[in-house]
Amino acid sequence: MSAQPELRVEREGQPKKAVDLLFGDLWGYAPAPESTGPVRFEKRYGHFIDGEFVAGDKWFASVNPATEEPLVEVAEADEAMVDRAVQSSRKAYDKYWKKMKGSERAKYIFRIARMIQERARELAILESMDGGKPIKESRDIDVPLAAAHFFYYAGWADKLEYAFPGGKPQPIGVAGQIIPWNFPLLMAAWKLAPALAAGNCCVLKPAETTPLTAMKLAEILQEADLPPGVVNIVNGFGRTGAAIVNHADVDKIAFTGSTDVGKIIQRALAGTKKRLTLELGGKGANIIFEDAPIDQAVEGIIDGIFFNQGHVCCAGSRLLVEESVAETVIRKLGHRIQTLRVGDPLDKNTDVGAINSKPQLEKIQELVDSGVDQGAQKHQSRCDLPAKGYFFRPTFFTDVSPSHRIAQEEIFGPVLSVMTFRTPEEAIERANNTPYGLSAGIWSDKGSKLFKIAGAMQAGVIWGNTFNKFDPTSPFGGYKESGFGREGGRHGLLPYLEIG
Ligand code: NAP
Ligand code: MG
Repeated sequence: MSAQPELRVEREGQPKKAVDLLFGDLWGYAPAPESTGPVRFEKRYGHFIDGEFVAGDKWFASVNPATEEPLVEVAEADEAMVDRAVQSSRKAYDKYWKKMKGSERAKYIFRIARMIQERARELAILESMDGGKPIKESRDIDVPLAAAHFFYYAGWADKLEYAFPGGKPQPIGVAGQIIPWNFPLLMAAWKLAPALAAGNCCVLKPAETTPLTAMKLAEILQEADLPPGVVNIVNGFGRTGAAIVNHADVDKIAFTGSTDVGKIIQRALAGTKKRLTLELGGKGANIIFEDAPIDQAVEGIIDGIFFNQGHVCCAGSRLLVEESVAETVIRKLGHRIQTLRVGDPLDKNTDVGAINSKPQLEKIQELVDSGVDQGAQKHQSRCDLPAKGYFFRPTFFTDVSPSHRIAQEEIFGPVLSVMTFRTPEEAIERANNTPYGLSAGIWSDKGSKLFKIAGAMQAGVIWGNTFNKFDPTSPFGGYKESGFGREGGRHGLLPYLEIG
């Protein structure tokens, strides 16, 4: 066996070492860009109201974050446009949707699922162009999961009494649904599929930086012959979202986004008849015990924070590692970040794509600077970044104290904070020591330990010896400042039903 080069923790600013030669240059990949040939989209989209695309009067551009070029223009919906959308949903609800048999609703939802599958390639390319995520993720995760959610909830549409035995489940009415930019099509599917299966009509607002796949989904709804008004989609900024939240004829709000905006919405709805579910931010902890399969755990950690540029609410953005294996884990992490391929989201080899927007890039940089200022040790990939576009090098910090901002605040970027622990009690205490409670990962070869620690975690989603695994049958949601209500699974129907 030939001698291996010495593998040491890589620190920013250090000259290139053998490891770069081994993994960087020698194992360099030739470009493998996905062709955008088959993709068609309009230069401008207004809103999707009453089954038709309607124009607006004020337009803004959604940028491709990998090129900084404007990609598509969409209109901004004002209160009058939101009112039109809500009225259209109300009419569709009273006229068709609430009267329709579940088995008939199911046919539409199945059709939407199939059409997403048929147009999967196009949707994946557009998702990567508009949002910056690597094509291998939009192709293998976002789009298939979006179709899977429609398939799964189509199956429930005529079985609601079996989902809640003994009750008489009834739809709520018109649901206002506001979604973020990190999984644009998938979040639309998470919102629309259970709402439609339960018999509600929807007014959906995509994020301002990623409207394109929502407009493509509108085309699919049109081609699926969904009755006009069952789903309306309005584009716009935060004030469009606020107009949906504050509209008197909306019965339920489902919001996924930041904890700050979630709090504003919760205050706005206090004392109203409207139901509310909130899926908010997170500061998930991955806990590695000394008996864990270390190589597998390191891969899980990498996936948990660098997947989708760390634009994942349930990202494992904190790593808690048992002191006895900390040195090994940190050394392996140091190597692994050097081998991550950062760059063109449309390249099939890219692991880490573009940060979604300039403000998000600035926010990540500011928090990383705070980590350095507060005394943590920064380790960063030395990869080259494209000359244009919003990119950030995969980064992790050691010597992090639990009070550092990088250990407390959601960075929402490819940045990991590593801390150590000596006892399981200390691991639990540290993992729970944030205002959030969305996700956690536990790595150990003892099943009993996994279950014991999981029981003590204040987190809605807990993975054992894996991370970031999603399935439409599994409920997802938060504790504490990560929100309330569940999406996915049978539980995901509940926010859209009155169980009589
Ligand atoms: P955000 O700023 O809260 O925006 C989310 C959505 O709300 C966007 O469509 C936004 O419109 C809209 N909005 C902004 N202000 C509003 C207001 N006052 N009233 C009503 N709607 C308003 O969050 P983001 O930065 O897009 O997304 C990142 C956050 O989402 C992170 O904190 C992440 O953890 C969280 N997230 C949570 C989950 C989960 O399931 N728990 C999943 C994904 C993301 P604009 O786009 O125009 O600002
Ligand atoms: Mg964009």
